[in-house]
Amino acid sequence: MPNPFILANWKMCKTPSETEALLSEILPALGNGSGVDVVVAPPFTNLTVAARLLAGSGVSLAGQDCHWEEEGPYTGQVSARMLVESGCRYVLLGHSELRQFAGDTDQRVNLKARMALFWDLVPIVCVGEQRDERASGHAEMVVEAQLNRCLDSLSVARPRGLMVAYEPVWAIGTGHLPTPSEVSSVHHIIRSTLLQAFGVKLGSTIPILYGGSVTTESVGPMLALDVVDGVLVGGASLRAESFLPLVAEVKACGPQEA
Ligand code: PEP
Repeated sequence: MPNPFILANWKMCKTPSETEALLSEILPALGNGSGVDVVVAPPFTNLTVAARLLAGSGVSLAGQDCHWEEEGPYTGQVSARMLVESGCRYVLLGHSELRQFAGDTDQRVNLKARMALFWDLVPIVCVGEQRDERASGHAEMVVEAQLNRCLDSLSVARPRGLMVAYEPVWAIGTGHLPTPSEVSSVHHIIRSTLLQAFGVKLGSTIPILYGGSVTTESVGPMLALDVVDGVLVGGASLRAESFLPLVAEVKACGPQEA
């Protein structure tokens, strides 16, 4: 059984010095990182300082986005190659905030994922329904269609070379969570979409994370579902007092040392 994932999305929070302070506080407490795969996604300006502190810690680094082009006249954007050289192994793509504030679409996410894969970055593709889509009973259909567009003609070369995060938009930063059975139903659809797109051998290795208002209390029931391979955490990842107990809970849900 692979380790469960916990990905900390710091969004537009923490300066480089605040990044140094938080990582210096949490890294010793995380120990050797066995039993849980921790990934931190700080703002772009903090990647270099984070990479230096994370070296040898077992904790990985992610970018919060990348552009779909290799380089060029795209003011304000960051390329996949820049992320790689800054020490990233993963990149978040299609987060609902970027869909809302920066015009990301499934087609763009698809192009970004192609570029990320070309540079051997693991794309973490975010999908999720709006509140009214959940209320009208269309969540599964919406997520399946989103994911199919995001994955169109993607070629993933190795096991776990791609991840999917189910993030219901109405659950992000609101304190409202779907029930375990609602999460389970969407994750089943995501898994069958992945199996169709990549075949059983590869599609069954792609981790599916849940994200949206995850706390120490809610993470256990989520990870108890065998269709949830990890969690994506925003607000609760910004302070050691909330993040460390969460990591401990995630670890407790993973394979136990003999
Ligand atoms: C997120 O932004 O991806 C997220 C899950 O945020 P929060 O945990 O704050 O809901």
